[in-house]
Amino acid sequence: MKGEQNNTNTQTLSPQGRAGEGCRLVVLGGGESGVGTAVLAYKKGFDVFLSDKGKIKDKYKEVLSKYKIKWEEGKHTEALILNADEVVKSPGIPDKVELIKALHKKNIPVISEIEFAGRYTKAKKICVTGSNGKTTTTLLIHHILKKAGLHVALGGNVGKSFAMLIAENACKPGQKDFDYYVLELSSFQLDGMFDFRADIAILLNITPDHLDRYGYEIQNYIDSKFRIIQNQTENDAFIYCMDDEVIEKELKKRIIRARQYPFSIKQKVENGAYLNENNQLIINLNNTNPLFMTIQELALQGKHNIYNSMAAAVSAKLVDIRKETIRESLSDFHNIAHRLEIVGNVHGIEFINDSKATNVNSTWYALESMINPVILILGGVDKGNDYSMLNSLVKEKVKAIICLGSDNNKIIKAFSGMVGTIMEAKSAKEAVDQAYRMGKKGDTVLLSPACASFDLFEDYEDRGNQFRQAVRSL
Ligand code: ADP
Repeated sequence: MKGEQNNTNTQTLSPQGRAGEGCRLVVLGGGESGVGTAVLAYKKGFDVFLSDKGKIKDKYKEVLSKYKIKWEEGKHTEALILNADEVVKSPGIPDKVELIKALHKKNIPVISEIEFAGRYTKAKKICVTGSNGKTTTTLLIHHILKKAGLHVALGGNVGKSFAMLIAENACKPGQKDFDYYVLELSSFQLDGMFDFRADIAILLNITPDHLDRYGYEIQNYIDSKFRIIQNQTENDAFIYCMDDEVIEKELKKRIIRARQYPFSIKQKVENGAYLNENNQLIINLNNTNPLFMTIQELALQGKHNIYNSMAAAVSAKLVDIRKETIRESLSDFHNIAHRLEIVGNVHGIEFINDSKATNVNSTWYALESMINPVILILGGVDKGNDYSMLNSLVKEKVKAIICLGSDNNKIIKAFSGMVGTIMEAKSAKEAVDQAYRMGKKGDTVLLSPACASFDLFEDYEDRGNQFRQAVRSL
């Protein structure tokens, strides 16, 4: 492990009160966003130090040593951190930890990687947030813009970090920056954003999630999501779901400066997107040349994906992409793994991997789109879930529940008496074997856990991959 040799800080802040070249930037967390930040900061002439309380992956250590960036792992050495001019904190670190409190006490600014990286590009930023559908919508928008031939990058909470994209593409003299960044933003990233401004902000929905991080106060979570529109002006655009009661209620309390483009599947919208009585999706901006598309033409099926497709189409129309390109892109988009991904059909039993459903709302949408009797694999790390919103769908469609978590008591209590069978499994393989034994021709086995995965798996991808593997070896 490398150590920090010289930690005296003699640099001053820039006139804006913000750390600049030559200042000490401490990065907390050595994952995708932290390492991206460290590289960008290094290239911009900061004195960079990265500290991770856990273990840093080898691939990231290699990047850090390539740039000779100082780092530590397995601890946070306060003496090397509390002398920072500015700190970029990984979205995974909550504000309540002692180190962050100590930084606040010393008035050292603590920001997110997106805030930091946003200072180093003049490109247009299309930013997507919401409780569910962020990745799908971000990828959809990127797909459309790319197909239209624009010079566009994809990043943030999906793929590469925003900071790394800038470090790799817009730091050398003569390098041409992207024209557009399509960024997925989580609420934790938004929490550390202050001056950043989205040219196009998309808010897909707000349903309870991560309440453990927000003091079990939904309003804190709502405020976090609404940071997506902070600093927007009349020249910017705000695209949001009009059918979402939480968003609608919140909008009544706020003054919105950006131009607003709502989308709805329940009512006609003058300036935005809606579904007409013939199940046609209509994108209508200022009554100029509206785009019509049937929902059967959409590559991504299910009610939730109509919303995602609408949001993506409105943003594409706002950057003047031709109707034909938007229509074609929404039709030929390939679905991404772990989101209602059909992984196999064994003796008439269909297996669907929806491992990315890490909250109750996304599981609701998965169940809502099921046609056959369901054996539901549910469970993992509970984030303060209220399962009751699933009750009527579970009663209507679910014949058995298999709990896949280290502590399943809450789920067992929530659904006992509601379904014929509730079982427990401690691995994806065990869950798949149980489901297969129980299943009959025409059933669907749905992994849609409504919970995070960190108790039994590395992450949701690991959970989905193990599920897929278990199905393939049946
Ligand atoms: P995120 O990046 O916000 O987690 P994803 O696009 O990865 O969202 O989808 C996560 C889960 O949510 C998937 O299980 C998917 O089926 C479901 N989902 C996708 N879009 C929506 C939406 N607009 N509303 C509710 N659920 C959705």
